[in-house]
Amino acid sequence: MKTGFIYDDIFLEHKTPPFHPESPERLRAILNAINSDLNLKESLIWINPKKATVEDIIKVHSKDYIEEVLSAKEGYLDSDTFLSKGSKEASLYAVGAVLTSIDYVKEGVIQSAFCAVRPPGHHAERAEAMGFCIFNNIAVGAEYAISQGFKKVFIIDFDVHHGNGIQNIFYDRSDVFYFSTHQYPHYPGTGRESDRGKGKGIGFTLNIPLSAYSGDEELIYIYKKRLPEVVKDFDPDIVLVSAGYDLRDKDPLSSINVTKNGIEEIIKGIISSKKGIPYIFALEGGYNLNSLSESVVITLKTLISH
Ligand SMILES: [Zn+2]
Repeated sequence: MKTGFIYDDIFLEHKTPPFHPESPERLRAILNAINSDLNLKESLIWINPKKATVEDIIKVHSKDYIEEVLSAKEGYLDSDTFLSKGSKEASLYAVGAVLTSIDYVKEGVIQSAFCAVRPPGHHAERAEAMGFCIFNNIAVGAEYAISQGFKKVFIIDFDVHHGNGIQNIFYDRSDVFYFSTHQYPHYPGTGRESDRGKGKGIGFTLNIPLSAYSGDEELIYIYKKRLPEVVKDFDPDIVLVSAGYDLRDKDPLSSINVTKNGIEEIIKGIISSKKGIPYIFALEGGYNLNSLSESVVITLKTLISH
């Protein structure tokens, strides 16, 4: 697949206090890994993101919350989400990266994309920053995809933490499916198997909680056997992926132990679940720099070679 890599140095300007796991070093590690593999580097279509507007973001976040973020002074927005001087621009471009990739797939320039962004997005609620996330990049992307003519959006979230924000935003919707695997019980505490949606959204949320110390065996089965059936039933015309690599074996924030090979199999399961539709990945977590950069490289190579 022709694969876009959406990135801008502006994401390095979202700074966090010393020893904060969600640091600019995460993206530097990813860039270094790609730049040291010339073949990979030249196989990607490098794209700069546009900046998301308030009109884009207001489809997901409340007006009061957007104004609160855009007028906030440097400091913590919640107990672990830091806003630095550069964070406002970075967070608007992080959303913009997902929107840009949708523009490019719509124009036929690319068939898949990886948005290497910070801050991440899947914990951000309609009116609340949470868990290192300011705006919900994937959720705004889903609304944008619908505004651009895509009728059904399937969201896959393999970050080790449950994406409470995405789930809540689309909980009563039947046009956006939310599929999540996550360590449970674990931060943020949500994501029970019995939470399946409400109203006309019943059946359009699927949580697969995993006990600590699950690994390749459990995850590969889910992504190669269960996921394709769910995707087939829903029959989406675009897939958005909350790509969090904190499910890796050496990640400091979790106890799920997926290996390098496991990541490759998970990605293959995702992109084989329906042929001929776009797959857009946006970076969420992943805090061991080696595991993170290695996993992103595997994701990109798998997308390109598919
Ligand atoms: Zn996470």
